[in-house]
Amino acid sequence: MASADEIFCGVCETQHVARDATFWCPECVDGLCSSCENLHRASKASKNHEVTSVNNYQQIQHTIASINQYCPGHEKKYEHYCSQHKTLCCPLCITTNHKKCDLLAIDEIVNMPMIFALFDIMEQSLEEMKVDIEGIVEDRRQNLRKIQQQRQRFQTNIKEIREKINKHLDKLENEIQQDIQAAEQKVQSQIERLLSKVSDHGKSLDELKKNIFATKSFATDLQIFFGGKMFEAEIQKEEKFMQSLIEDGSLQQINLECKIADKVSDILSMTEIGEISAITNLTTITLTIDREQAQQMIPKISKKSM
Ligand SMILES: [Zn+2]
Ligand SMILES: [Zn+2]
Ligand SMILES: [Zn+2]
Ligand SMILES: [Zn+2]
Repeated sequence: MASADEIFCGVCETQHVARDATFWCPECVDGLCSSCENLHRASKASKNHEVTSVNNYQQIQHTIASINQYCPGHEKKYEHYCSQHKTLCCPLCITTNHKKCDLLAIDEIVNMPMIFALFDIMEQSLEEMKVDIEGIVEDRRQNLRKIQQQRQRFQTNIKEIREKINKHLDKLENEIQQDIQAAEQKVQSQIERLLSKVSDHGKSLDELKKNIFATKSFATDLQIFFGGKMFEAEIQKEEKFMQSLIEDGSLQQINLECKIADKVSDILSMTEIGEISAITNLTTITLTIDREQAQQMIPKISKKSM
């Protein structure tokens, strides 16, 4: 019998000679060397056996190759198919286990032209599926390339928006810095103007004090009398000035105040710049294979005359 890798000539093996088989007879279920194959072809019993080369035989999948023509229990050739038990039967099987079964002769159910046509259809549908698979691979690769482009575009967009925001904030910061500076300068010059006015009045007071002392010490009584009236008027003017400082608010404390706009705090409370998600759209590829047809390709075993 055949081993998985090496097949020996069965005839030679019965004579205790190990010789590689070059042929395989599926009827005998055995290997044959070249010389035994000649005898096998000449022999009456086996001249109708259709042998094949061992190479060809080994290409057949094991599960297919192991489908036997002979009943292992009775060593007789299968001739019928029992549709009740869904099994092949040899003549002895029929007399034992399938006496009342509905039997179909194998010759009747094995319709070779139809089966070859089915094999053609199977091969064709495999071809179509292969084409479909190539199409699927190309379609998915295209999708990958598209996604890569989208990713790059989004990343660039974010960078651009970020740069715009940076530039805008830089501009706004510049503006507020200048405003702060200007506000200080305005108050500063306002206070400086007042200081110089106050300083002028201080000098006037010194002058008055000096004049009053001199008049009091060195002038005549008449001079003192009239001078006193003049000094009084001058002092009243100075008092009015001091009073005006309180009334016009020149002595009020001045503070600078800077209020940050609400929208600036809004930026800091912002938790995300955007959101990314994958969206599925309609399928763009169409497959050629018609699945329903493929599923019904293998017919149920029935009579030839269907
Ligand atoms: Zn041999
Ligand atoms: Zn044979
Ligand atoms: Zn049997
Ligand atoms: Zn049966």
